[in-house]
Amino acid sequence: MKIKKILFFAAFAILVFVCPLYVCSVDAISGDENIHAADPEKKYVALTFDDGPHPVYTQKILDILAEKNIVATFFIVGGRAEIYPESLLRMKELNCELGNHTYDHVDLSKTKKAGILYQIQRCNEAIYAASGEYPIVYRPPFGRISKENEKAIPMRKVLWTVDSQDWNTKNKDKVIKNVVKSVKDGSIILMHDFYKSTLNALPEIIDQLTEAGYEFATVSELAALKKISHLHEYFMDD
Ligand code: ZN
Repeated sequence: MKIKKILFFAAFAILVFVCPLYVCSVDAISGDENIHAADPEKKYVALTFDDGPHPVYTQKILDILAEKNIVATFFIVGGRAEIYPESLLRMKELNCELGNHTYDHVDLSKTKKAGILYQIQRCNEAIYAASGEYPIVYRPPFGRISKENEKAIPMRKVLWTVDSQDWNTKNKDKVIKNVVKSVKDGSIILMHDFYKSTLNALPEIIDQLTEAGYEFATVSELAALKKISHLHEYFMDD
């Protein structure tokens, strides 16, 4: 029974998940007009938010992004996307990027390949159902996946270069300080749309970075702007 189950998932993954995504990722990377409109000589950073959508904080974070007229990337938990699909639609309306953060927020370094493909594929389907688009980037929970299993996922792995430590401190002032002290051109900033302290820190982070001359891009825009052909080679690795 177990072998049958694994074979089923493998066949399912190849037919439904792997084939369409190869096509999807090539189109999406070469055809984004926002990328061509941006200036590669400017300084850019990418704000990223993991673990949502949250029933309250995600919408409030989107309010701030809309008010400041900037974009961010959300690494979405598939099971939560099914509960709060309206958040994903609004992210799309605001030109934010939607990324995969697995269906159940599992540690992929402790999951077998069939389980990994299931987690990634089911999250992709949940994001598609809510937003009408498949994501082209994913972030493994805790930043962990083996090199071997990584090859089985035909999407760009995106980690981070600046950790706000919001998950650890849950303190607005420390979150602001952790971001501002480490940021540089091309930074990918890790935050979570899951804590009130992150929500409260966000306006000041955006204002301070804007004052320092930074513009905001999604992770895929950042990769194109900085001519990074393979995100996973550039971004922090475990
Ligand atoms: Zn996470």
